[in-house]
Amino acid sequence: MNKDLFQDFKNLSFDEEMKNHTSFQLGGPVDVFIEGEGIEDIRKAVEICKKENIPLMVLGKGTNLLISDKGMDGLVLHIGEAFTDIHREGQDLVAGAGLSLKKLAEFALKEGLTGLEFAHGIPGSVGGAMTMNAGAYDGECVQVVKEVGLMTRDGDYLVVAGEDMDFAYRHSRIQDEGSICLWARFALKEGDPKAIQEKMEDLWQRRVQKQPLEYASAGSMFKRPPGHYAGQLIDQAGCRGLYHKGAQISQKHCGFVINRGGARTQDVVDLIHTVQKEVKDRFGVDLETEVRVLGR
Ligand SMILES: Cc1cc2nc3c(=O)[nH]c(=O)nc-3n(C[C@H](O)[C@H](O)[C@H](O)COP(=O)(O)OP(=O)(O)OC[C@H]3O[C@@H](n4cnc5c(N)ncnc54)[C@H](O)[C@@H]3O)c2cc1C
Repeated sequence: MNKDLFQDFKNLSFDEEMKNHTSFQLGGPVDVFIEGEGIEDIRKAVEICKKENIPLMVLGKGTNLLISDKGMDGLVLHIGEAFTDIHREGQDLVAGAGLSLKKLAEFALKEGLTGLEFAHGIPGSVGGAMTMNAGAYDGECVQVVKEVGLMTRDGDYLVVAGEDMDFAYRHSRIQDEGSICLWARFALKEGDPKAIQEKMEDLWQRRVQKQPLEYASAGSMFKRPPGHYAGQLIDQAGCRGLYHKGAQISQKHCGFVINRGGARTQDVVDLIHTVQKEVKDRFGVDLETEVRVLGR
């Protein structure tokens, strides 16, 4: 591809290693990496990609991604620092897509608004959460999202109501249409700050106890298969702690694949295939990855 097409962008790099941008610390180089500076910047990038038929991937905090060792073709557009504004309107919060869910939940706490406690411990961004309909414990984005600001792959700007986001379990329309999330509006309720804080702290402690947060990972590797828990099936299939060249099924939480250090993406992929086969052979259940596996 002709990298010169992107020369006008201020915050640009070539052959950027994706392992520096993912919580798994895995992934080879992408042709072009752009730090989004604003809406017009994004529109320009989208238009070039459309015209020149260049693949475009949007990156949030990289906490749900497994990217090939060989890297990625095309452009990675990072929605980060320039999209972290947040403000209150009545009982709503409006937050930029680059804001972390942690900061979003902390802002809600400061404002005495309840409804986002579940999001506090999820390590992604608002944009990633809109893409994945992120959720934890008793909460999920679908319950609190009122509107989302999107840019289509044609460069059009849309404001989409929460009920039109096609939210489902770890799914939204963003996955189908490849649109870019710019911001989201959350409808919250007045709450007791002490109770909000206690709930956030309780959920965080549950995470610390159950999840291998001390290792690089992308969180739960597999979607919950209907009627089962992925971690339980993996455990019962004898895969707890299974190790392959630096990649391991966590001893602490079998739903997590962790990078113990030195793993490559291919090693994680091999381990995933082993586990999928063991669970299928044993229980006849297909484990589908929740983590987005991308790249060359
Ligand atoms: C330790 C750990 C614990 C986790 N716990 C949970 C949990 O409890 N619940 C849960 O749901 N998830 C959990 N996750 C997974 C992850 O944090 C969520 O899926 C999160 O929503 C991903 O956000 P992100 O910004 O990191 O997205 P990324 O990983 O950067 O991207 C994920 C997908 O979203 C797309 N995307 C990102 N930003 C945008 C945007 N602005 N516009 C359009 N598309 C975009 C990407 O193209 C990609 O397809 C966990 C991960 C880790 C590492």
